[in-house]
Amino acid sequence: MKILRDIKKMQRLAADLRKEAKAIGFVPTMGALHEGHLSLIRKACQENDCVVVSIFVNPVQFGPKDDFKKYPRNFKRDTFLCKSEGVDIIFYPDARSMYAADYKTYVNVEGLSNSLCGKFRPGHFRGVATVVAKLFNIVQPVRAYFGQKDAQQVTIIKKMVGDLNIPVQIRVLSTLREDDGLAMSSRNSYLSPVERSEAQVLSGALDLAKDLIRKGSRDSLLIIRKMRRLIKQKKSASVQYICVVNPETLEPIEKIKDKVLIALAVYIGKIRLIDNIMVNLKHG
Ligand code: AMP
Repeated sequence: MKILRDIKKMQRLAADLRKEAKAIGFVPTMGALHEGHLSLIRKACQENDCVVVSIFVNPVQFGPKDDFKKYPRNFKRDTFLCKSEGVDIIFYPDARSMYAADYKTYVNVEGLSNSLCGKFRPGHFRGVATVVAKLFNIVQPVRAYFGQKDAQQVTIIKKMVGDLNIPVQIRVLSTLREDDGLAMSSRNSYLSPVERSEAQVLSGALDLAKDLIRKGSRDSLLIIRKMRRLIKQKKSASVQYICVVNPETLEPIEKIKDKVLIALAVYIGKIRLIDNIMVNLKHG
C-alpha cells in the first residue's frame, strides 16, 4: 500500500493507472475510520482494480464554532485498517497544499446547500463540494463511494457531478449501525457512557417515524411532533432539526407519498449527531 501526500504524485499515478485501463475506486474520508467507512472500502475493493482512500480533515467545511481542531485523528490506526482491507493507495494531503494562501475557487451547489444541516452550518456544503471536486480531479476515479448516513452530502455531490459533467459514478451505500441502532460516526467517540446510551434515541425516533408511516400516517408535521416528543425524553438530547423532504430537491414534504427522506440532527450533550432514513411507500 502506498501513502501519497503530494497532489502531483497522486495525479500522475492516477493518470498512469487510467492509461493501463485500471478502474480506480475512490473513498473520500476524514479519517478516524470505523466499520461504516470500511463498508465503503470493501465495496470499492470488490468493484475496482485499484482503491484510493483519502484521509483529509477539510478545514473549509468546518465553521468557526465547529470541532475542526478537536476532530478525532488517528492516522496510524487508519493506515493499519486500510492495509488490512487491501487498499492500494492512501492519499493524505496537508491543508496547505490543498488550499494555498492565495486559494480562491469554491463550488456552491445552489438551492441544496442551505437547508437541513446547511441551515445550521453555513458554508459547510460549499466546503464539502469544493473538496470533493478537487479530490475527483486529483484521484480521477471511475467510481466514488459515499454513505447514505450523510444524505444531504449525497444529494449535493450527485447534483454537482451531473451539473459539472464530472466523469465519475457515484455509489451510495447504506448506513452502518451499532447493535442498538446508533449510526456509526467518528463523533460517537466523544460521547460519555450515559450520552452514548441516550444517543440511541436518534435511530429510535426514525424507527418510530417508519412505523407510523407503515401504519398509515401521512402527515409530516404530526410525525415530526411525535419524534420530538420521544427525543425529549432523553435528558442529554436536544433537537436541532427534524425534516421530511424530497430526497432529490430537499424540499419539505407535508403529505407523505412516494419516496421521502426523514433527516434529523440532534445534540447529545455538546455533540451534534445526524441520522436519516429513506421511506419509499411504493416498495414498502
Ligand atoms: P467522513 O469521514 O465522516 O467524512 O465519512 C466518509 C464517508 O463515510 C462518507 O461518505 C460518509 O457518509 C461515510 N460514512 C460515515 N459514517 C457511515 C456509516 N455509519 N455508514 C456508512 N457510511 C458512513
